[in-house]
Amino acid sequence: MKIVLATSNKGKLREFKQMCQADILPYQELLGDIEIEETEDSFKGNAILKAQEIYDKLAKQHDEKYIVVADDSGLVVEALGREPGIYSARYAGEGVSDEANMDKLINNLTQKSLTSSKAHYTCAIAVVSCYGVYCVHGWIYGTVNTLPNGNQGFGYDPLFTPDGYHQTMAQMSRELKSTISHRARALKLAKPIVEMLQRY
Ligand code: IMP
Repeated sequence: MKIVLATSNKGKLREFKQMCQADILPYQELLGDIEIEETEDSFKGNAILKAQEIYDKLAKQHDEKYIVVADDSGLVVEALGREPGIYSARYAGEGVSDEANMDKLINNLTQKSLTSSKAHYTCAIAVVSCYGVYCVHGWIYGTVNTLPNGNQGFGYDPLFTPDGYHQTMAQMSRELKSTISHRARALKLAKPIVEMLQRY
């Protein structure tokens, strides 16, 4: 069975490919670009929604069996009442840049006279196949800071320093990020599920 990744985020696709030894196809290669609205109220709900939608379309159009993997992830900032959470990608509006989202987060902390806050990234990974639906989670805890640092990674990485490190996720090598990140931790749990499904 082919493994298909249901994301159009280039940063995520690169990280998934780096973390997985298996061959992963981006769904666009099979279905073209599809706009999927994230209408659920949790990371888990949105991850399953994305994987299921791509799985259903593939099942309709192709005879082959597929395992579809999707993730939904984001940053939860304690001092901001758990914002941006599931709205991380569109915190400053639909289709805005990572910089605009970071600016909004920095402004919201600054308005509270804060220069930092405890925060964590969450990643839910959903796996949908003809054998059913699975979902796992990974987390990484740390601090967000109002001074961006570094130019690796994507999203809020220049603001986020994981506990136990003195560098932001955007100052880390790709190799280091891909061993400690929320996505890496979720993927570690998702991998045996995908491997089991491939053996069926
Ligand atoms: P999703 O594509 O709906 O899952 O939205 C994920 C959003 O959360 C991204 O666009 C980023 O803003 C943020 N995010 C998730 N994972 C990371 C990460 O590893 N680094 C930085 N930002 C992330």
